[in-house]
Parts: sequence; structure tokens; C-alpha cells
Amino acid sequence: MKDGSPRMIRYPFEDIPAEGEATEVAEGVLWMRLPLPMALDHVNVFALNDGDGWTVIDTGFATRKTKAIWEKLMAGPLGGRPVNRVLVTHHHPDHVGLAGWFQSEHDAELITTRTAWLFSRMLLLDEHDRPTQEHLHFWRRAGMDPEILELRANERPFNYADCVAPMPLGFRRVQEGQTFRAGGRNWTVRLGNGHAPDHVTLWSQDDKLVIAGDQLLPSISSNLGVYATEPEADPVGQWLDSCEGFLPHAREDHFVLPGHKLPYTGLPTRLRQLIDNHHGALARLRTHLQTPASAGDCFPPLFKRSIGAGEYGLALVEAVGHVNHLYQEGELTRTLREDGAWLWQMKESVDGE
Ligand SMILES: [Zn+2]
Repeated sequence: MKDGSPRMIRYPFEDIPAEGEATEVAEGVLWMRLPLPMALDHVNVFALNDGDGWTVIDTGFATRKTKAIWEKLMAGPLGGRPVNRVLVTHHHPDHVGLAGWFQSEHDAELITTRTAWLFSRMLLLDEHDRPTQEHLHFWRRAGMDPEILELRANERPFNYADCVAPMPLGFRRVQEGQTFRAGGRNWTVRLGNGHAPDHVTLWSQDDKLVIAGDQLLPSISSNLGVYATEPEADPVGQWLDSCEGFLPHAREDHFVLPGHKLPYTGLPTRLRQLIDNHHGALARLRTHLQTPASAGDCFPPLFKRSIGAGEYGLALVEAVGHVNHLYQEGELTRTLREDGAWLWQMKESVDGE
């Protein structure tokens, strides 16, 4: 694309804020980064200046290291003024991790959707030393590689409570279409789905800012995963509906503050890319499933690259997301293989198309 093209995605701030430091990306809006111990090694958090204190957007994992960075941020860039409110975009640990800590240690009010709050509180209680029967069953249905399944069956699984601080009772609910005041601006609350249920995005009514969480990421695609919590879910369909729903509101000069990677402009272009990427993946999957395969055997058409051990879990839940979508759309049949995996296959088209 040519320079100056309005359909281009641009990154006005390419210098990433260093640990414990902040970049002012708009008046009264600070961008900060916290480390994550994963392939995706950081999460963006923001602080909105309310005059008497701050509204913080998302929090990072609950680790000693993240708390220490927050202490440094509060004493430094946040000028020692209190974090009065924490708005959590969705219930994933990299976003909600320290919300409870801000509530109990810093007397902050938690603001999020009812869904995100209930999910967080529910998952915090779901602690296990070994995977539950439901998890093993879900992984078998997904066609998890037998060696990985064997390994996982005998080790401590991912536990939400390992990286999310305990959350005391009480939160303030935000809902679709509401106006939310923070950082000297009025924001329209718009909820998305697919990556996490009822994911909050905030659209400024006073300037071009959009706070996006993981709903509107640049350069990487949000994981659209199915979990044992709801094995028949269709996050891909919900994601596509959300992208289509956001399009009429999106403008090229919106300045989007995402949960990961760099702030950017060019939102309509990005939304069309996100929609096209999944339609492309679904088209390749249809071709692949002319012959029966488990979700675990659908990585090549979906991801077009080899999947390392560190990404296997995310790839598997996303593969289930894509087969579930085609199944819900009535395009696939499924049969059980002897080992308990669903084998998915395209229905034969009646008119020979
Ligand atoms: Zn995230």
C-alpha cells in the first residue's frame, strides 16, 4: 500500500514503554507494558487521568514481579495519586490478574461486565492438582496428540488461581451501549464476543480513542478457543458477528489502544483483515475436511505453519473453535473414533458443488 493511503494500518508510537515507565499516547492517557511468561510476552495496560486519581485498564498477571512493576508505576508515572478504579476488559488472567489486589490492597473499585466478573470468580474456585475427567474427555474429543494427553493427564494443569489474585465480593457492572466517564472523556461501551464472552471495548465520544483489549488487536489474531466449560461453543461465529457489528462504528482515524502489540490507526482495514483471515481459514478447513479428521489434525490448514509445544494448547482449542463453527453452520458431520476423538467431515453437497 502506498504511503498516505487511508486504508493503511499505522503505528504512531513505535517505541515501547520500558518496564516501570509510561508513554502518554493521548492527553491524560498513559500506556504501560507488563511482562508475561509466555510466547506472547507482554500485555498493555492503560491509566486514564481522572484528576483526583486514575482509572486503570487491565492489570497483568498476579505475580510478585508484576506487583513490583505496578508499585513503581504508581510511585513514578502515576505521580503517587491513587488508582481509584480498575476496568477489566475480559476475564483472561493477563487482564484480570491483579484486579482483586487493586481492590483489597489499594481500595480500588472493580468495573467490568457481569459475565467477566462471574467467570473470574467461578474459575478462581476451580483449582485442581490433576486435570478433571471433563478436561480429559474434552481433550480426547478434540483429538489431542496421545503423547501430550498422557503427559498432561499426569501433571498439574493450568489453574486460573495460579495467576489471578483472589477477588473480594463487589464490582460495578458495565453494559452494552452505556456511557462510561473516565480520563476526561465520555466513552461508549461496546461488547464483543468470540475471544472472551462480553468483552468490553470503549469508544471515546470526545476524540478518536478506542480502548480495545483483545477484541481489536493489530498484527496478531486473538485466540478463538473452545474449552471444557462449554464444549459446543461457537466462538468463531461470535467473533465474526462482533467484527461485522463493529465495522459501522469504525473509522480509519480511530486511534486504537489494544491489549497487546502497538497502538494503531486503520481500524476498518484491521476489522476487514480479521474477518477475511477467518473466512480464509474456514475455506482451507472445508477443503481439508473432504476426508475425515480430528480437530487436532487440522493445524496445517488453519495455521499454515508448524505449531510448537508451547502453542499446542492454544492451537487445539482454536481448531475446535473452527470445526465447531462449520458444524453449527450445518456443513460438517461428526463420528466418534475408537479413541474418543470426533472425526469431522464435510457433508456431501447435494448439487455436486
Ligand atoms: Zn490478552
